[in-house]
Amino acid sequence: RFVSLEGGEGAGKTTVLDALRDALRSSGDDVVCTREPGGTPLAEMIRDLLLDPDHEPPAAETELLLMFAARAQHVRETIRPALERGAWVLCDRFTDSSYAYQGGGRGLDAGFIAALERHAVGLQPGLTLLLDIDVDRIERERDDFFERVRAGYRARAAAEPDRFRVIDAAQAADAVAAEAVRQLQAWRAR
Ligand code: C5P
Ligand code: MG
Repeated sequence: RFVSLEGGEGAGKTTVLDALRDALRSSGDDVVCTREPGGTPLAEMIRDLLLDPDHEPPAAETELLLMFAARAQHVRETIRPALERGAWVLCDRFTDSSYAYQGGGRGLDAGFIAALERHAVGLQPGLTLLLDIDVDRIERERDDFFERVRAGYRARAAAEPDRFRVIDAAQAADAVAAEAVRQLQAWRAR
């Protein structure tokens, strides 16, 4: 009952998350919607540190460790308790974001990320919806960071086809949301 939503910025994750939540709630289910980095008071403070526009971006290793510090707290304080009481958890980003951004984007070693995942997180979503969209030409010219993030995500999805569903996020927003809801319903009925 743990579902994560992944994808680059502007792929429409928020709209999709709202649609998934509404679909589950309309069948009477208990649903917790949460996000990363964040999802608890401490983890939201870490998010503010990470995304503070007044400071230089942190070193890649610092960013990775803060992401996992936030995630460790998020799992213990929010996600596990919700799953244990039988609720659905819909999470806007989870560990796959670290493989894509800190691994693919910033070049950190996937083995290091996997060790953090194993020791500090210890659980994976049952279903991960990847909103996949071509990187904007302007962004591509500025830096291939977002290309590497996208490639990181697609490699994750290819390696774990049972967990991932890749959704073409270049479609109209309502079509993307409808496909995500269909995928969730199909997974739930499996
Ligand atoms: O999901 P949202 O767009 O709100 O993400 C907040 C920011 O954190 C984004 O700029 C995203 O690129 C960044 N992020 C990151 N590494 C992660 C998770 C999020 O760089 N593991
Ligand atoms: Mg967003």
